[in-house]
Amino acid sequence: MHKVMLITGASRGIGAATARLAAAQGYALCLNYHHRQDAAELLLQEIKSAGNHAIAVSADVSDEAQVARLFAAIDDEFGQLDVLVNNAGMLERQMRLDEMDAARLARVFAVNVTGSFLCAREAVRRMSTRHGGYGGAIINVSSIAAKLGAPNEYIDYAAAKGAIDSMTLGLAKEVAAEGIRVNAVRPGVIRTEIHASGGEPGRVERVKAGVPMGRGGEPEEVAEAILWLASEKASYASGALLDIAGGR
Ligand code: NAP
Repeated sequence: MHKVMLITGASRGIGAATARLAAAQGYALCLNYHHRQDAAELLLQEIKSAGNHAIAVSADVSDEAQVARLFAAIDDEFGQLDVLVNNAGMLERQMRLDEMDAARLARVFAVNVTGSFLCAREAVRRMSTRHGGYGGAIINVSSIAAKLGAPNEYIDYAAAKGAIDSMTLGLAKEVAAEGIRVNAVRPGVIRTEIHASGGEPGRVERVKAGVPMGRGGEPEEVAEAILWLASEKASYASGALLDIAGGR
C-alpha cells in the first residue's frame, strides 16, 4: 500500500515542489488548491503520468464546509490518510501594523491559522489510534517570520505563523501517544510567487544579503525537509520546529 499524503496549497511554490518530491518517493497524493485550477491540473497530470495515484481537489482551507468536502474526497478516493502537509498560506501587501484594519487581520488569520487548525483536526480524526486510525504525520509549514517578526512588512503574517508554532508544540504532545507525529518547518526567504502578493516580487534579491548564506532558498530545499519529517526516518521527531532558512 502506498502512503497517502494531502498537501494543501499544492498548485504552486513550496506545495508543488513537495508534491513532486513526494510523488518521486511513491506517495499517493491529494493536491489541494484554491484559485489556480490550471496549475493544479497540470501538476496532477505530470504526477499521474509518472504512475502515481493522485487527485486534485479545490477547497478554501479557511472554510469549514470546504475542508469537510476536501477530506471526504480523500476518504472516497483513498480510504486512508497518512500524512498532512499544512502548507496553504498567504500574506497581504506590506505595511506597518499601524495601518492594518480588522478585515485584513481576519483574512490573514483565517487562512494561515484557522485553515491549518481545521485540516489538522480532520487529519487527527482519521489518523489517531483513539479514533480507530493507524497513526500518521502532520507537517505544518510555518515561517522564520515567526521568529523574526517581519517588521514593516507583515507582522500579522508573522504572528499567524507564531500561532502555528504553538499549535505544533501543543498538538504534538496531545497526539504523541496516538501514533501521530506533529512537526513544523520554518522556511526563510524562498523563491516563490508569495512575495509578489506582498507587493514586492523582487523581495528575495533585496533581503538575501541579510541571510547568513547570502542567498534565497529554493522550494525544493524546503520540500526535502518536509519529506524527511513525513518519513519513518524522523520516527522520534515530534514537536520540532525545523528552520530551513539559510542560517537565519
Ligand atoms: P505561493 O507560491 O504563494 O503558493 C501559495 C499556495 O497556497 C497556492 O497553492 C495557493 O493556492 C494556496 N492557498 C492560498 N490560500 C489558500 C486557501 N485559502 N485555501 C487553499 N489554498 C490556498 O506560496 P509559497 O511561498 O509556496 O508558500 C507556501 C507556504 O510556505 C505558506 O504557508 C507560506 O506562508 C510558507 N512560507 C513561504 C515562504 C517563502 O519565502 N516563500 C517563507 C516562509 C514560509 P492557489 O494557487 O490555487 O490559489
